[in-house]
Amino acid sequence: MKVFNTLSRKKEEFIPVEEGKVKMYVCGPTVYNFIHIGNARPMIVFDTVRRYFEYKGYDVNYVSNFTDVDDKIIKKANEEGTTSDVISKRFIEECKKDMAGMNVKPATKHPLATEEIDGMIEMIQKLIDDGYAYEKNGTVYFRTRRFKEYGKLSHKNLDDLQSGGRSLLVTGEDEKEDSLDFVLWKPKKEGEPAWKSPWCDGRPGWHIECSVMSKKYLGEQIDIHAGGEDLVFPHHENEIAQSEAANGKEFSKYWMHNAFLNIDNRKMSKSLGNFFTVREISEQYDLQVLRFFMLSAHYRSPLNFSADLMEASKNGLERIVTAVANLKHLSGAATVETMTEEEKAAFEKTNEFVAGFEAAMEDDFNTADAVSSVFELVKYANTTASAANSKEYLDSLLALIVKLTDVLGLIVEKEEELLAEDIEKLIEERQAARKAKNFQRADEIRNELLEKGIILEDTREGVKWRKA
Ligand code: AMP
Ligand code: ZN
Repeated sequence: MKVFNTLSRKKEEFIPVEEGKVKMYVCGPTVYNFIHIGNARPMIVFDTVRRYFEYKGYDVNYVSNFTDVDDKIIKKANEEGTTSDVISKRFIEECKKDMAGMNVKPATKHPLATEEIDGMIEMIQKLIDDGYAYEKNGTVYFRTRRFKEYGKLSHKNLDDLQSGGRSLLVTGEDEKEDSLDFVLWKPKKEGEPAWKSPWCDGRPGWHIECSVMSKKYLGEQIDIHAGGEDLVFPHHENEIAQSEAANGKEFSKYWMHNAFLNIDNRKMSKSLGNFFTVREISEQYDLQVLRFFMLSAHYRSPLNFSADLMEASKNGLERIVTAVANLKHLSGAATVETMTEEEKAAFEKTNEFVAGFEAAMEDDFNTADAVSSVFELVKYANTTASAANSKEYLDSLLALIVKLTDVLGLIVEKEEELLAEDIEKLIEERQAARKAKNFQRADEIRNELLEKGIILEDTREGVKWRKA
């Protein structure tokens, strides 16, 4: 399997640190608002990477944080007259709802920066003890030039950075030994959340958070560290400096970065105000369409958001969903159970599409080509399946489409929606069953409806129902 590594700027063969296991850390969002669909790109892309590793039989430990202490969160809390904690908790919950809608699996662990402060203080202290960091008036800085490999990820040269850095010095940071040094710990300002530390009451810098959470949940060396390409510098470059200085070993073997989701060819971002939230998109489309749209491009290519592309994605997804529904329908009506020799030979031919799918995914997760292989399979199913086929043949085609689309995280099996009149009928049947003291049947009906997302409520005015 080939993975493009930002460190070497090459596709490299994937060799895990520990056989059969993948340890993966994906930098998560700063939670001060609903996530926008630019933030959704790394979520969908790296969830798909995870799913492919799982499909290959790897045991994946997937960690993705929420940055829940940050200037933007504090600002929002002040605007609303509440605390950062209230803001971040609220938007973590909202983000989780969006993730579920996009069928992004929950991480093995979603650490919160504010719950890992002790580990941060410990790592900062170690960096100070080893001469990699120093304290000035309560602020702790990383001594960038002490880390000899600084710049290896972003391929930046320290002297170029230095000349750019001088003019960029933030006021209050003129006490730094060197303009390249960056903050590990900063003193609290009025009205800000703060934690006790050996240097002052304050809070951590953003970069140290990820170094510490990755180490705690995945160990000192991991396989893949990932995020959007804007994180290469300075965030990931600084994470490498901190982690490798503190742990004395290579932090992550592979660094993966997705390109931007653009709108009118400009990066979608909160600060430019040119964004759509995932929630807004969900009002217009099933979020599966958004997921399909994201996977229709290679993750390292910029992707421009447009209504046309969303419509095309909707149609593309619909083609798969329809084929699956058709197979289900045919299978339900099939009169022959097991595959004939001829059908076995016909099913063998699908190996070609599976091979195409895997080859695309093995080539640095080329989901665009993987989707094309799924389309070829769907076309094959549409042209070869008919009412004359055995149930086994039809079910095998169906299961294969579902298996491959599941690697992409696409849900193609539509739950049959119950119509209001069907629900009413079932409720009547349940009332009749209760009258006849057939409580088993009454419970069965309640559970059947519950499985389809319908909740029954016994009220004084009779039985009412609502969607879960
Ligand atoms: P943030 O909340 O800004 O720290 O972003 C969370 C994640 O979303 C990071 O991995 C960013 O690189 C990524 N991200 C933000 N905007 C975009 C965008 N327009 N396209 C792709 N990724 C983005
Ligand atoms: Zn990070």
